[in-house]
Amino acid sequence: MKPTTPYRPLDITIPFPELKAYARTATLLHPRPGTPTAADSSVGGPLLWPADETWPVCAEHGRVPGVRPDRHDGSALPLLALAQFYVRDVPDLGPFAPPGADLLQVLWCPFTGHDDASFNDYGPSTRLHWRRAADVTEQLSVQPGPAVVEREEYLPNPCVLFPEQVVDHPFADYLPAELVERIEAWEDALQERIGEAAPCYQYDLSLAPGWKIGGWDSWHRTDLMRVRCGACGAEMRLLLTIDSDGGARSWVPYDEAQDAWNGGRPPSPHGPTGISAARDEYRAFVCPADPSHPHRMSTQ
Ligand SMILES: [Zn+2]
Ligand SMILES: [Zn+2]
Repeated sequence: MKPTTPYRPLDITIPFPELKAYARTATLLHPRPGTPTAADSSVGGPLLWPADETWPVCAEHGRVPGVRPDRHDGSALPLLALAQFYVRDVPDLGPFAPPGADLLQVLWCPFTGHDDASFNDYGPSTRLHWRRAADVTEQLSVQPGPAVVEREEYLPNPCVLFPEQVVDHPFADYLPAELVERIEAWEDALQERIGEAAPCYQYDLSLAPGWKIGGWDSWHRTDLMRVRCGACGAEMRLLLTIDSDGGARSWVPYDEAQDAWNGGRPPSPHGPTGISAARDEYRAFVCPADPSHPHRMSTQ
């Protein structure tokens, strides 16, 4: 059964048509165990990497004392390939791509405690790398990677993706206060009529949970903190959500619901990827004014 999410219990733009102005599409990635190749979009699969391009390393972890016997330089930790996404597979990725690029590659150093510019929260240090797939004529044959990781939850299980485009509406703090008041009154009235089963704006009717590209960012643990570009001050836009939580019951994809019905259990409490880099979500934000400005990470 293909991983897709159920229809929303109701369309929130019917009682609140003004929300249409805030709607954004997002692509849920639905990673599932598989054997991706470099030609596939994946989490935990091999990256399409040119044979003549240096594999990125973490300079900060180069300061760890000691010399690794299997490395001549003994001084830098190769980054770990986390994921790659082809624009052709992920409808909401295209608008983020710099001119000519059609492949986004995400690598990270699987340790905490970094002090680099892209990093503004607790979690592994990430690198986002755009390229044009057709430029890779000769592929790297053996993919480097770190010999150690800080936590098992920073090491992805190989997964193929089943992208599904959905519509997100914003976290309430992004909306005018009077609109939020009306939504809350509507939720209260609905709950009075149908009880605990009543869908709520935050968890059922606005933000899609799970690994996703684009859409809106939730701030359910901290309240809204606007992420601003360190280079130009522009408000940054959510590019990638790495989710270790899974979200509300109404969002459970059909294949996982079927598995649960059959008595199956996910291979990891964090879902098929096994990744958990924050309590719920680890998100990459990028500058809408200039894609060359460093991205920033934030957690929920
Ligand atoms: Zn590092
Ligand atoms: Zn900027």
